[in-house]
Amino acid sequence: MSKLPELCGHSDLQDRFRATAAAARLPQSLLLHGPDGIGKQRLALWIGALALCEAAPARRPCGECPACRMVGGLQHPDLHWFFPVGRPKGSHTSQKLRQLLEEARMEELAARRENPLRVPDDDPSAAIYLAMVDELRSRAVSRPAIGRNSVFVVGDAERMVPQASSPEAANAFLKLLEEPPADTLIILTSSRPGSLLPTIRSRVLAVRVTPADLETAAAWLERVAGLPPATARELARRAQGAVGAALRMAEGEAADVDAAWRFVRCAASGEPAQRFALAASFPPSGARGGFSRTLDRIEEVLRECITRTTRSVDFSWHQAPGDPASPLDELPVDRLISCMDHVEEARRAAAGNGNPQAIAAVLLARLARELRHAHPGGRNATAGRG
Ligand SMILES: [Zn+2]
Repeated sequence: MSKLPELCGHSDLQDRFRATAAAARLPQSLLLHGPDGIGKQRLALWIGALALCEAAPARRPCGECPACRMVGGLQHPDLHWFFPVGRPKGSHTSQKLRQLLEEARMEELAARRENPLRVPDDDPSAAIYLAMVDELRSRAVSRPAIGRNSVFVVGDAERMVPQASSPEAANAFLKLLEEPPADTLIILTSSRPGSLLPTIRSRVLAVRVTPADLETAAAWLERVAGLPPATARELARRAQGAVGAALRMAEGEAADVDAAWRFVRCAASGEPAQRFALAASFPPSGARGGFSRTLDRIEEVLRECITRTTRSVDFSWHQAPGDPASPLDELPVDRLISCMDHVEEARRAAAGNGNPQAIAAVLLARLARELRHAHPGGRNATAGRG
């Protein structure tokens, strides 16, 4: 059973690679390039399976032989997956640095085995350091452990250049591309191939990878990632078929929605000190950016409250443990609509680039007045609307 998610699109390329491999004409070094998040590394791993599969050539990759299963579980000893990792803190000898980077890579691989849909953190300091290229080279000159050949997948290969210690890393890698050991397949992937050293680009066969069409991407997001159909379609459209980018959006949005619920719950039942702390947790500037999106999410939460109230649905399920108790049900619709007016006003203040902390504090106070007065259990139930 493969743990790797199925490919999204790329069936034309798969056919081409299958035919090339069956004719034993797979080049020794490839560059898969195309937009971010379309599954280039996933496709590279599939090509790895194609090269390592033990079935008859016409059936590769069969998905069932021990080699295919090991690739699917990211456990094939001859499939080496490299990608940028953050630089370990402190200064180290090159030996120690190589060991630490290798540990970080192994840790990330374990996380990917655990969660094959994992969207790695976008760490701008992450790079493919010289010490990592040394590790890759020493693996490349060793004999394959069990199969006919070794496969090296190097994701985000352009990150060999721009960060620290880099021309060296890229040049060391160049030596490997100049004289690749027999039976070695090296697959680079990059969404910014223009940032690769020209000398590297000239030594690899560049293959353009395009995003899946929107329908395929939406179906994938629904079937593989388990997103609701409408969300899957919306994210597929916004990410222009790049399912990896869509997953990143889904993750970011889930966090935003949680934050919006926290905001409304805090207004409904938080103490003034809690409201103050929440307002202070916003950045003091940049109201037109992230803060405006927060306001959008708060408005959506309020709209959802109205829908649920009119349908008399209990939604206490959205209450995280440890949060102040705040039964958001039974809120009168007119008060919720007033709340939306307050959000609208906050949005105007944000458009004028006001201070997000101040805007949030005012909004929390106004929502608190509406929600507490309205709710029979609210502390200010008898205090009037002020
Ligand atoms: Zn196989």
